[in-house]
Amino acid sequence: MNLIIFGAPGAGKGTQGEFVSKSKSIPAISTGDMFREAVASKSELGKKVSSIMSKGALVPDSIVLKLVEERLRKDDCKSGFLLDGFPRTLPQAKGLEEILARSNKKIDKVISLEVSEESIIKRLSSRRICKNCGRKYNLETLPPKKEGICDNCGGELFQREDDTASTIKHRLSVYFIETQPLIEYYKNQNILQTVNGNKSVPEISAEIAALL
Ligand code: AMP
Repeated sequence: MNLIIFGAPGAGKGTQGEFVSKSKSIPAISTGDMFREAVASKSELGKKVSSIMSKGALVPDSIVLKLVEERLRKDDCKSGFLLDGFPRTLPQAKGLEEILARSNKKIDKVISLEVSEESIIKRLSSRRICKNCGRKYNLETLPPKKEGICDNCGGELFQREDDTASTIKHRLSVYFIETQPLIEYYKNQNILQTVNGNKSVPEISAEIAALL
């Protein structure tokens, strides 16, 4: 099953994507995670995208498409995949179709997590991540047992550089202008499934599971 999990920053794509990835045994591919890894490893790609990401702007389509094409060629994508944070623009969506068509594949479903703007801002500003194992927390809805410490591995929690107030605003405006039009695009292809992302994590997971 070839899936896209779609939604604004902070809509819960990563969290829900992990559940789907486990239940369907398909890799969850997050372009944001891939770019963050490139930045952390100080690779050529990382150097190119680092300042773009810290401003909350979008990495150019050509760079993103090349990265995704290489990733989708790997063996673990043979029986399906879930894309998180990609596509984010119409040219990316069209580029993805071309990449998939070359191996007679297509996207089966797009799961769109709909969350109010107010709760997106709240969620992003209270998001924390473990430096060590990457587990995600939310100070309001999913806090760690001990402040600043990961329940899973005892690692230190940090806030993403682009989860700060002014960058969040910019990321949201980029989302509304560049990314939101894709909802109409996938609706017209009859592959869009909308889920109310304002509910609790388990409720949303159950709703998504029922759709798949
Ligand atoms: P995310 O973790 O999905 O919120 O992505 C973090 C940042 O990585 C974004 O704000 C962009 O700068 C960059 N990025 C991730 N995915 C894409 C994409 N599909 N197109 C352009 N930029 C992206």
